[in-house]
Amino acid sequence: MTKPLVAGNWKMHGNANTAAELATHLALHDSAFVGVEVVIFPPAVHLDRVITAAASSMVSVGAQNMSQWASGAYTGEVSGEMLNDIGCDYVLVGHSERRALFAESNQVVAEKFKAAQQQGLTPILCVGESLQQHQQGQTVKVVTEQIAAVTDLVGTKSLCKGVIAYEPVWAIGTGEVASPEQAQAVHTEIRSQLGSQGANTRIIYGGSVNATNAGALFAQPDIDGGLVGGASLEANEFLKIAQLMVQG
Ligand code: PEP
Repeated sequence: MTKPLVAGNWKMHGNANTAAELATHLALHDSAFVGVEVVIFPPAVHLDRVITAAASSMVSVGAQNMSQWASGAYTGEVSGEMLNDIGCDYVLVGHSERRALFAESNQVVAEKFKAAQQQGLTPILCVGESLQQHQQGQTVKVVTEQIAAVTDLVGTKSLCKGVIAYEPVWAIGTGEVASPEQAQAVHTEIRSQLGSQGANTRIIYGGSVNATNAGALFAQPDIDGGLVGGASLEANEFLKIAQLMVQG
């Protein structure tokens, strides 16, 4: 079994000092999460200092987004190669905020997934349904389409080398966490779609995870960790969440 993974998405929060402090604190306490891989996703402008602060620790660092293109006249964009060059290991692709606010289609997300792997990064593919889709019983359909766009482009074997984060949009930043049973049902469905190649693929849950609800989520057999937004900005809360994955 691959190591479970707990990821912290800092989104567009903090400043240079708070980013370095948070990374340093986690790095100093990395003995707390032996048995679980911990990855933090600071804003792009703070990646370099966070990578320095986390160097020589067990904390990995990733970017919240990247370009689907390798290089060229794409003002404002950052390539996977650039991220790899400064020491990033991971990148989030298709976070629901990117899909909803920056109009990233399934196709663009798939291209980013492919570019990330080509440029030596492990992509975390975020999938999940909106509240309306959830209420209309379309969860499996939406998630299936989001995953199919990636498998159509790179194949199931490559998808399985990445990480999949199931993040129901209605649970992100709302305090409305999916129940462990709800999340497990979707994770089981995703794993069955991956077939035998997906037996060891990490499928993590995101959406209002905190130190109070993480234990029950992580106890589910197909939940291999968490993608944590708000609660990852508080060092001790995030450490507690990671430890719950160790125990789970
Ligand atoms: C996220 O940003 O991916 C997320 C799950 O946020 P939160 O934990 O705040 O819901």
